Amino acid sequence: MEESTRQQLLEAVRRFVRERLVPLEEQVAENDRIPDETIAEMRELGLFGLTIPEEYGGLGLGALDEVDVMIELCWASAAFRSAIGINIGPGSQSILRSGTPEQKAAWLPRVASGEIVTSFCLTEPSSGSDSAALRTSAVRDGDGYVINGSKRYITNAPVAGVFIVMARTNPERLPKNAHVSSFLVPAGTPGVTVGAKDRKMGQSGAWSADVYFDNVRVPADALIGGVEGKGFAMAMKSLDRGRVNIASVCVGQGRRILHEAVQYARQRTQFGKPIAEFQLVQAMLADSQAELYAAESMVRETARRIDKGEQVSLEASCCKMFCSEMVGRIADKAVQIHGGAGYMRDSAVERFYRDVRLFRIYEGTTQIQQIIIGRQLAQ
Ligand SMILES: Cc1cc2nc3c(=O)[nH]c(=O)nc-3n(C[C@H](O)[C@H](O)[C@H](O)COP(=O)(O)OP(=O)(O)OC[C@H]3O[C@@H](n4cnc5c(N)ncnc54)[C@H](O)[C@@H]3O)c2cc1C
Repeated sequence: MEESTRQQLLEAVRRFVRERLVPLEEQVAENDRIPDETIAEMRELGLFGLTIPEEYGGLGLGALDEVDVMIELCWASAAFRSAIGINIGPGSQSILRSGTPEQKAAWLPRVASGEIVTSFCLTEPSSGSDSAALRTSAVRDGDGYVINGSKRYITNAPVAGVFIVMARTNPERLPKNAHVSSFLVPAGTPGVTVGAKDRKMGQSGAWSADVYFDNVRVPADALIGGVEGKGFAMAMKSLDRGRVNIASVCVGQGRRILHEAVQYARQRTQFGKPIAEFQLVQAMLADSQAELYAAESMVRETARRIDKGEQVSLEASCCKMFCSEMVGRIADKAVQIHGGAGYMRDSAVERFYRDVRLFRIYEGTTQIQQIIIGRQLAQ
C-alpha cells in the first residue's frame, strides 16, 4: 500500500474512532449491543476486509499495516474490534490460505464487505488449550458429510452467517490432529443451533455463544480446500499473524487506558496539587509508558518480519504473551491512579480493566504461549 493511501486510511480510522466510536462506548456497554448503523459505518470504512486481498474486495493490508489500524481502532472499546475480529482473522485467512478457488470466490467478497460475519469454531466444552482433542465429528455420508458436536465460547456466533467448523473426519487414526478437517457451514443449515449469549465479565457488546451441530448435513464442497485432515494445520498456519493482531489490540487498548490515567492524574487534586505531580503516581505512569513502548516496538518488529515472509512463531507468542500481560498491568495501575473513582462503574478504566482481562485467555492462554516459547528454546 502506498504511503499516502496508508496515511489516509489511518487518519480515517482515527477520526472514525474518536468521533463515532468513543462517544458510543458507554451505550454499547450498557445495552450489550453495537448499533446497526455503526456496524454499517464500519463496513463502509472497509474494516471487515482489512486483511483480505483487493481482488476479493478487501484492502489487502500487510501485517504491519494491520497492526497500525488495530492500534488506532483499539483506542475504543474492544467490542468494536470484536465485531470485525473473526472476519479479518481466521474467518477469512483459513479460506484464503487453504480454500479452493470456488470457495474463495463464493465467500471472500461477502466476508470482506461485512455482508457476512464469520465465526471460527474450534473450542469445545472438553477441549480448550488442548484444542487438538476436539470431539466434533464429520462423517462421510454419500456425497457429503454429517457433522455432530458442540462448540463453546464462539465469538460472533449469534450473528454469524457462516461457521468455520473444525471437526474430526477420522476418529480412529493417530496422530490425533492429523484427522481434523475444517468445514464451511452456513448458519441456518438444518441441525445448527446457537445457544444463549454468554454472560461475560467484560467486552459487553461483543457476543459469544455455544454452537451445536446435530446431524448437520453439508455437501462435500463445504470441506475447506477439498482435502480431509488439513484443518488443524490450517488453523495453526494463521495463528502467528492472529497472535500479533491480538498483541496490537492490547497496544491500542493500553494507549487509551494510559491516556485516561494521565488525564485523570492531571485534573485530580489532593494535598493542594494535581496527583500527577506526586512522584509515586508518576512512577505508575512511567512504568506503564515504558511497557507500552516495549510492547509497541516488539509488535511492529514482528509484523515487519511477517511481511518479509520470515518464520515468527516464537516472536508472535512473545508478543501475545507480553502485550496481553502488559495491558493488564496498565489497566490495574490506571484503576489505582483513579482511586475510588476507578472502582466505579461510571469510569472508563473500570470497564477497560474488565475488558482487557480476556486477552490473556483466548487465542492461546499466557501459559500456552510460555509452553510454545519454552519448547522452542529447549529444542
Ligand atoms: C469471550 C471468549 C471468546 C472466545 N472466542 C472463541 C472463538 O471464537 N472460537 C474458539 O474456537 N474459541 C474461542 N474462545 C475459547 C478460548 O480460545 C479458550 O477459552 C482458551 O483457548 C482456553 O481454553 P479453556 O477455556 O478451555 O481453558 P483450559 O484449556 O481449560 O485452561 C484452564 C487453565 O489451565 C491452563 N493450562 C491448560 N493447559 C495447560 C498446560 N499444558 N500447561 C500449563 N497450563 C495449562 C490454562 O493456561 C488456563 O490457565 C473464546 C473464549 C472466550 C472467553
